[in-house]
Amino acid sequence: MSSNLQKLKLLLSLLLLLGLVNCTVLRDRVPVDAGASAESGTPAESGASAESGAPAESGASAESEAPTDPEIRIEAPIEFEAKVEPEAPSETRTSDTKVLIKPSPESPSLTDPETVGREVKKDIATSPEVTPKSVPDPESKLEREALALVKVEPQQQVVAAFDPTVELCREVGQKLGSVSVEDCLSQNLVHSGFSTASRSLAFKDYLPVAGREPLGRVLVIGGIHGDEFSSVSVLIKWMQILDKNHSGLFHWRFVPTANPDGLLNRKSQRQNQNGVDLNRNLPTSDWMVNALSYWEHKTKRNPRRYPGPYQASELETQWLVKQISGFNPDAIISLHAPYHLVDYDGPPTAPEVLGGLSLRRLGVYPGSLGNYAGIDLELPIVTVELKSAGIMPRKKEIDGMWRDLVRWLRGQLSKSTRLK
Ligand SMILES: [Zn+2]
Repeated sequence: MSSNLQKLKLLLSLLLLLGLVNCTVLRDRVPVDAGASAESGTPAESGASAESGAPAESGASAESEAPTDPEIRIEAPIEFEAKVEPEAPSETRTSDTKVLIKPSPESPSLTDPETVGREVKKDIATSPEVTPKSVPDPESKLEREALALVKVEPQQQVVAAFDPTVELCREVGQKLGSVSVEDCLSQNLVHSGFSTASRSLAFKDYLPVAGREPLGRVLVIGGIHGDEFSSVSVLIKWMQILDKNHSGLFHWRFVPTANPDGLLNRKSQRQNQNGVDLNRNLPTSDWMVNALSYWEHKTKRNPRRYPGPYQASELETQWLVKQISGFNPDAIISLHAPYHLVDYDGPPTAPEVLGGLSLRRLGVYPGSLGNYAGIDLELPIVTVELKSAGIMPRKKEIDGMWRDLVRWLRGQLSKSTRLK
């Protein structure tokens, strides 16, 4: 009996010992694995160098010159991770998770702009857009009291509503889930023309910095197709990055909503107020000969691709042409969705990747911006086709695209400056 008991005790203590050893081994293993994956994860995402595990290495990798520009600082993978956190506006952190852009009550399937115009009438009662953003639901007495205090605000806003960009921002903030009215207002957009339905055509410049010659002028255009919501939201996120980091590397001009009526009418649509696809209405050299016949025969008169009655027939097109001739950009970036790629027209060299988007040339169409700027004006033009028209990319992806874009622009415009 006693020997059996002894054996049992021995067995128990053996098991106990084994358990301890196991735990120690596991505990040792966890940090090693975690450490390895964290290190290998960062450079792989940054695309800079495969071996740059140690921060010192990665700082010196890819770009040999130490990036001193804040615009470029975002390029250095390790610095990027560390520095962007405090610099990025706190609200952009929410876009870490996929944020659905507030659909218009009648907005069709957001993920596929091609279906726009077919399915209509969403559940108005559940659409987040229908409820004014800042007014709490007066369920309790306390909330009702708070509401009474809040009610002063709209009257104050009316006073400032004479600047057409204020109304533009109010509408943009109500339409887009990822951009608040305040986000838009704080950009202090410059009103410089009216759309067909009398909305503001506006831009913002990030001017050259005293004592520093910019590498060039860059025009960034969002929302030329009104139902590609993410093209407006991502552009505004990029502006927020620049708000903190503009160092005079480039002279930027941002046009967040090139087709405000298409975006902001109750039912958003690709075309402008007159049903014209602005990205087929530019006065390209082949417009007169090809635009309408292309529309009739190739698109079978698809209303979403209608190039207009004549070239540059639309106020928005005329305004955009003036922007291009007046600002005289060295490169143009145009945001679209949802083809999930980078398209490029104009003189070499195209960017191979922007964040998770890879280069895939689609060719040009009569009246398209790529054709007008890239072929006729021989300007480098990058068409960023985001993955989804209605779902925001993650913050990391938005930052990654920006970082790659600045890197490409720096290479491209350094070259063209040298040639001048
Ligand atoms: Zn588009």
